[in-house]
Amino acid sequence: MFRPNDNFNLLPESYLFSEVAKRIREFRADHPDADIIRMDIGDVSLPLPECIIKAMHKAVDDQASQATFHGYGPEQGYSFLRDSIAEWDYNKRGIAHITADDIFISDGAKSDIGNIGDLFGKNIRVAVTDPVYPVYVDSNVIDGRAGILSDGRWSNILYLECTAENGFRPLLPADGICEVIYLCFPNNPTGTTSTKDELRKWVEYALRNEALIIYDSAYEAYITSDNVPRSIFEIEGAEHCAIEVRSFSKTAGFTGMRCGYTVVPRTLKYRFSDGKTASLHDMWNRRQCTKFNGASYIVQRGAAALYTPEGREAIAHNVGLYMKNAHTLREALLAKGYIVAGGVDSPYVWFKTPGCKTSWQLFEQLLHDAHITSTPGAGFGKAGEGYLRFTGFNSEENTIEAVKRITNC
Ligand code: PLP
Repeated sequence: MFRPNDNFNLLPESYLFSEVAKRIREFRADHPDADIIRMDIGDVSLPLPECIIKAMHKAVDDQASQATFHGYGPEQGYSFLRDSIAEWDYNKRGIAHITADDIFISDGAKSDIGNIGDLFGKNIRVAVTDPVYPVYVDSNVIDGRAGILSDGRWSNILYLECTAENGFRPLLPADGICEVIYLCFPNNPTGTTSTKDELRKWVEYALRNEALIIYDSAYEAYITSDNVPRSIFEIEGAEHCAIEVRSFSKTAGFTGMRCGYTVVPRTLKYRFSDGKTASLHDMWNRRQCTKFNGASYIVQRGAAALYTPEGREAIAHNVGLYMKNAHTLREALLAKGYIVAGGVDSPYVWFKTPGCKTSWQLFEQLLHDAHITSTPGAGFGKAGEGYLRFTGFNSEENTIEAVKRITNC
C-alpha cells in the first residue's frame, strides 16, 4: 500500500494570503464602490525593461534555427549568465573569491530555499527568525525536521524573535544549539537590514559552531546604505559557512519569469557521519543534476541583459521608484507615532499602531476606515502579532493616495 509523506499531514493550512484575499473579496462585495488600494502586494507592478524584452525576443529567434537552437542547457546555468553574475554582483563589489563556478542558476529563490534541505542531515536543528518568510519553516516540516506543532511553534525549530526591543534583529543563539540558521536581509517581512559588524557576529558564530547559514538576499538591490552588506560574502570567513540565495524577482521584475541563483562556494566543507569530507558545492551540484534540468535558455538570456549598461540603469530606476514609495509610507507612519521598521534599504514597511489590537483587527480597521489593504504580521509568526506589513510595490500615485488616507484616519 502506498504511504504518503506523513509530514504533509502535520502542516497547517497556509491561510495568510488566501485569508487576506477572501476578506478583501467580501469587503468588495459589501462595498462595491470602495476604491481599495492594495498595500499588501508582494509582487512587482512595473513591466520588464525594454532591453530584457529584446534579449528574450532574440533568444526565441535562436530557437527557430538549427545553428542557434538550444536544447537542454547546463544544470548549473549558462556561463554567459554565471560569468556576468560573478563579475557584477561579486567581483566588481570587492568579493574576488566568488567565481562563476560557485554560482548555480535556478528558476527562482523559492525553489532553492525549498530544496536546500536536501543537503541537511535528518536530525539537525534549524533556527529561523520570528517573524519569518514561511518557506524556511514549511520546507523543514515537509523534510521531517520540525518536530511537533504546538501553540504556533514547532518543537524542533529554534525561533529567534525579532521585536521592537531588539530593533527587529535576531540575537545570537547560545553556542551549540542549532546547526542551520536562516537569515534574510533586507528582511521580509520586517524590512530590517544588518550592518557588516552584526553580520560578522553570525559568521563567527557559524564558524565556531560548524553551523551553516542560509543567507537569503532576495532584496539586496534595495540596499543603498554604505555599511549594509549586499552579500554575506563581504564578511571574511563566510565562504566557509554560508550559502547565499538570490532572486531576480524583486530586483528586475522577474516574478513571472522565474530566475534566481544560489552561491555555494567550493570552500564550504563539512563532514559526513563516517568522517569523510562533505563538499556542499559538490553535493548541491549532484542534487541539481539529479533533480533539475536547468532554467529556461530564454529566461537566462533575459536575466543576462540585466547586466548590460541599459539593464543596470533600468533596474536602478525601477528599484528607485519602489523605494520612494516605501520611504513615503515609512515617513507617514512615523508621523502618526507608530512603531515602524523597514522602508530604508527595503521595499517593506513593518509597523504597529499604539494599543493592543491584533494584526487582523488592524487589517480590518484599515480596510474599513481607509480602504487600504495590508498583510497581517501574525501570518509571519507569533512575534508578528500586532504588526502589519505594507509594500512599496504599488504605483507612486496609489501610494500617495494611501498616505493621504492614513494621515486623515
Ligand atoms: N525570499 C524571500 C525573502 C522572498 O520574499 C521571496 C519572494 O517573495 C523569495 C525568496 C522568492 O523569490 P523567487 O520569486 O525568486 O522565488
